Amino acid sequence: MSILNVVNAGMCVGCGGCSVITGGKIPMKVDNLGVWQADPSQVLPTLQEAASNVCPFADESPNETEIATEEFPELPVHPKLGRYRSTFAARLTDQEYLEGSSSGGLTSWLLLQLLERGHIDGVLHVGSGNSVDGMFAYVVSHSADELQSRRKSIYYSTSMADAILSVRGNGKRYALVGVPCFITAGRLLARNDVELRSQLSYFLGLVCGHLKSSAFAELLAWQLGIPPKELETVDFRVKNPAENAGSYDFSATSVTGETRQAPTSTLLGANWGLATFQLEACNFCDDVFAETADITFGDAWLPEFVSDWRGHNVIVTRHPLLAEIIEDGVTSGQVSRHDIGPDRSADSQAGNFRHRREGLQLRLHDDQSAGKWTPRKRVEATADINEKRKPIVRQRRELASTSHLLFEEAKELGSLEHFTNSIEPQVKSYMRLYREPFPKRAARWGFRQIMRLLRLN
Ligand SMILES: Cc1cc2nc3c(=O)[nH]c(=O)nc-3n(C[C@H](O)[C@H](O)[C@H](O)COP(=O)(O)OP(=O)(O)OC[C@H]3O[C@@H](n4cnc5c(N)ncnc54)[C@H](O)[C@@H]3O)c2cc1C
Ligand code: SF4
Ligand code: SF4
Repeated sequence: MSILNVVNAGMCVGCGGCSVITGGKIPMKVDNLGVWQADPSQVLPTLQEAASNVCPFADESPNETEIATEEFPELPVHPKLGRYRSTFAARLTDQEYLEGSSSGGLTSWLLLQLLERGHIDGVLHVGSGNSVDGMFAYVVSHSADELQSRRKSIYYSTSMADAILSVRGNGKRYALVGVPCFITAGRLLARNDVELRSQLSYFLGLVCGHLKSSAFAELLAWQLGIPPKELETVDFRVKNPAENAGSYDFSATSVTGETRQAPTSTLLGANWGLATFQLEACNFCDDVFAETADITFGDAWLPEFVSDWRGHNVIVTRHPLLAEIIEDGVTSGQVSRHDIGPDRSADSQAGNFRHRREGLQLRLHDDQSAGKWTPRKRVEATADINEKRKPIVRQRRELASTSHLLFEEAKELGSLEHFTNSIEPQVKSYMRLYREPFPKRAARWGFRQIMRLLRLN
């Protein structure tokens, strides 16, 4: 049963699908690195088999293409977005509401619409919870107030096992929000569990670069002077009207109620490209646009939208009702929409595709050459990729893995410097891989000097 391989290879993303399908018999817990993990080793082979059928990384479960083909057979396929009905960039027009959302605010707005129109009774999503295992958890929201207070992107390891098990069999209908692999696990649960099939009514996907362990929040807060033991909560996405949409702030609040804030880009380890504290599972994932979701929301990282600090979503619709609700929002003036077409939507995630298609090919090749187990993926294993990208792909993986260990040591020692001093040389060496070769830089410098002289004369 390949679920054992998934866990043994460190590729469990912690979704909790295996725990739900076994009625909680497969335990979930947070490991010493701050990542939710399943332990299927002690259960009977029949339960391991059931669990493998719902695990997004197990070879026994259908892949995203197979699931989407069954869910949306009538829709055209785009090589990067998967199946799609329509795709566009959009944001809400209510500026006050937008400030409390990560991006264009359409994710939480659509959830509110589904609830108000009576299509669902509640929402399974991530927000501040009462979890003893971390500051964020999957929670169940039943009211507009709860939905509005639980917004913004949570870059933090969570599991949906407890939340789904708490509602399973209560006869109510829910929308599930999640990153692509969690949505796939949700779809697989609905296929394999009659109760959940009738309860999980809508699947709202979030475009995903990668998921972080709890250490990411702790490292950024520590740099603001709040050490892990004194940390109450964080806000990963504080919008800044003086900046563009990509230059947001990070804020942290201590147990004594003091809040500190800084531009995220000034904090070591915050650069998304470094992949600090990235889960190992994310090295083996090829789904960027949550291809099995009824609708997917991301950030429209395109120049024409980034310049607006309020933020815009990139959206891929697949379910007709959800597309219709957004259309109603456009008609009523609540939603501002810009048609950009599927290729531009995919372009908004260019870095993600480099990491998750070309990069994945090399990582599969590297691990298979070393005799390691790898999950079945939709790209071929090969080292035949752009030569310049090879060291970038390999060093990024190395950075992710060492960041986990160094931060664990730093916490034990109570020394932030232990982490920063050790990781800084690695970060510098990684950033050098992006530098242009000297002749090119010299030519660019020369050109700038000539232009300056021409302006002076
Ligand atoms: C781990 C992670 C990585 C991401 N990577 C990218 C990326 O590389 N590129 C990109 O364009 N976009 C990425 N996104 C999506 C992006 O950050 C926004 O979440 C998305 O654009 C929705 O913004 P919004 O303003 O519409 O949502 P809001 O109106 O702020 O509502 C957000 C909703 O999502 C729920 N939510 C937040 N985090 C989670 C979570 N971890 N699991 C389940 N539900 C959650 C909230 O509870 C809330 O209901 C990522 C999101 C996450 C959580
Ligand atoms: S189903 Fe989810 S939690 Fe269970 S082993 Fe697979 S990835 Fe891990
Ligand atoms: S990168 Fe893939 S595996 Fe990692 S959290 Fe996102 S969807 Fe899941």
